[in-house]
Amino acid sequence: MTAYPHLLAPLDLGFTTLKNRVLMGSMHTGLEETRDWNRVAEFYADRARGGVGLMVTGGIGPNMEGSVLPGAAMMTSEKDVANHSIVTARVHEAGGKIAMQILHAGRYAYGPKCVAPSPVKSPISPFPPTELDEEGIEKQIGDIVNAAVLARQAGYDGVEIMGSEGYFLNQFLVTHTNKRTDRWGGAYENRMRLPIEVVRRTREAAGRDFIIIYRLSMIDLVPNGSTFDEVVQLAKEIEKAGATIINTGIGWHEARIPTIATSVPRAAFAWVTKKLMGQVSIPVITSNRINTPEVAEEVLASGCADMVSMARPMLADADFVNKAAAGLGDRIAPCIACNQACLDHTFGGKLTSCLVNPRACHETELVVVKAAAPRTVAIVGAGPAGLSTAITAAQRGHAVTVFDKADEIGGQLNMAKQVPGKEEFWGLVDWYRVMLADLGVKVELGRAVGADDLAGFDEVVIATGVSPRDPAIPGQDRANVLSYIDVLRHKKPVGKRVAVIGAGGIGFDVSEFLLEEGHSPATDLPLWMKEWGVTDPAQHRSGLAPEGPQPAKPVREVTLLQRKAKAHGRDLGKTTGWIHRATLKMKGVNFVGGVNYEAIDDAGLHVSFGEARENPTVIACDTVVLCAGQVSDRSLADALEAKGVSCHVIGGADVAAELDAKRAINQGTRLALTF
Ligand code: NAP
Ligand code: SF4
Repeated sequence: MTAYPHLLAPLDLGFTTLKNRVLMGSMHTGLEETRDWNRVAEFYADRARGGVGLMVTGGIGPNMEGSVLPGAAMMTSEKDVANHSIVTARVHEAGGKIAMQILHAGRYAYGPKCVAPSPVKSPISPFPPTELDEEGIEKQIGDIVNAAVLARQAGYDGVEIMGSEGYFLNQFLVTHTNKRTDRWGGAYENRMRLPIEVVRRTREAAGRDFIIIYRLSMIDLVPNGSTFDEVVQLAKEIEKAGATIINTGIGWHEARIPTIATSVPRAAFAWVTKKLMGQVSIPVITSNRINTPEVAEEVLASGCADMVSMARPMLADADFVNKAAAGLGDRIAPCIACNQACLDHTFGGKLTSCLVNPRACHETELVVVKAAAPRTVAIVGAGPAGLSTAITAAQRGHAVTVFDKADEIGGQLNMAKQVPGKEEFWGLVDWYRVMLADLGVKVELGRAVGADDLAGFDEVVIATGVSPRDPAIPGQDRANVLSYIDVLRHKKPVGKRVAVIGAGGIGFDVSEFLLEEGHSPATDLPLWMKEWGVTDPAQHRSGLAPEGPQPAKPVREVTLLQRKAKAHGRDLGKTTGWIHRATLKMKGVNFVGGVNYEAIDDAGLHVSFGEARENPTVIACDTVVLCAGQVSDRSLADALEAKGVSCHVIGGADVAAELDAKRAINQGTRLALTF
């Protein structure tokens, strides 16, 4: 008997059956744009082999004006059909099913030729869109339908028509972006005409036995978005127009409410999809922040949806479904919703991967095969760099021993997991522990090894990490000065007024920790909704609370300082930095930049400003916390070198600057494929 009976139940669509209730949601990986179709095929085939019921590709443009970017993948020609056929054939061979997402970006298209219902520029794009005339609208419909017909020719099992997240079809639905007075604007019946026409004509052209998923925005989270009555009305019309399945979209891209970041509670929006259940008779899919089989099962068992969409979790572990089905749920590499290697890469114009699984989107390049000759491998340091080396090396058949002077594995991950909104790191450390045991890695904790202990190993890997940088501020040895390690690891007492020195990732983390103190909105959905001003869309249009965000009173007064004059947090994650900045701002954090640290004494932290050290100021505080960056801990590597023992130095011990878990895990995994 499986622990996930709802998740693993087949879904009969009439003309075809999905083997379980897991949809791999659409992700813009950038793979299609590499034009290396073997690589694209392998990415999807790997997930098909992993047991997922149905996959949706990244967004494919139906024409130039609707493509997300110039040069983005489109489905417009026989050549496109031939390329995509490579993907569908490989997926079918692997026993999977795949639908192509047709994404018309409208005013979100990053190019001067973008089109929209009305010339209303998006706040997240520099390009004002051109208003479409009647002929232009007909062309867009024709192009979307054509893309669906070509997708069928290419062997896809269906298409997903992207109607949410503030893209083209969504832009017609709401008065926020549709100011038209013709038959495509004005009354709701007119504004919803376009999505309905698109689905109706796609069904007509593509035939009956073809999956059409319509991704419908159930809570827009932008001013003047849809009411829930309008959402239900649209869903019913979309069903009548011939859709097979309705998928959930949450929030427009320009919404200032986080919808998928790690600080969003798990399954935070399943209740929104549940409101549509029973209103239509076709299956309904829910989405966002569902990342374990337990959460997915609970969502389905409690009647929130007929199917769950998980996108990023399929990057973290292609075998998610097979492992769940085999009762090996604790072996599933968890998506920690960090966005660091997926969405941040996409928005940075880089190929997507995954922080916990560097093989994601690199399936043809990083192939884990058994080593020709097993070797003995010593790894010093059980942080992310050392652990990822250990797992990959053990998977290759090497005999691996991991040493760490701490009495637990995880290194800096153990500090990250203490931060409110970063609870997913607990699961990552747990996963490493399970995998080490599963793969027979020997782990020696509480053991500070020296160069002599490492004699006799074929390969020695130094992953000893980093130490805090010494900012050399007069008075920093006083009792009221702590390091981030004292705060996050040793939980030393901190006063009510705090000055945090250094506004990098750790300065932000420490500030969030000090503001919340033991209570995290990420594990308390009603509190999280209140903090961000999210409410029931049936009560208030678009799901925006009329009173706006209502942050809980912070536990402390925090001043966050840096020497740079530029805005705080500019170097945090591309897609999540704004959330950290907004959180701290909501909680009244005082951002101070362009400072020189002069001294710390009884009065607090003394600073001056600019090169001329002007405006001496005292930041009155009870505690100063040092988060001034980190330096490599290379002492063991140096000792080995002095003895002429060769070793591999990775992670923070290699380069401390801009170290994060993504680089550490990537470096460790790649190293283990070389010996
Ligand atoms: P960091 O990002 O390099 O930031 C170090 C901070 O210390 C900067 O604000 C820097 O700003 C300041 N600083 C540097 N030298 C200083 C000195 N001599 N005296 C006083 N201040 C000094 O390092 P981190 O905060 O330790 O983070 C380490 C790594 O973990 C980073 O790569 C970070 O991205 C990653 N991380 C990421 C997240 C995330 O949310 N993605 C969270 C935690 C950690 P000024 O030079 O302007 O003073
Ligand atoms: Fe999940 Fe982070 Fe991997 Fe993206 S990079 S898939 S958010 S773990």
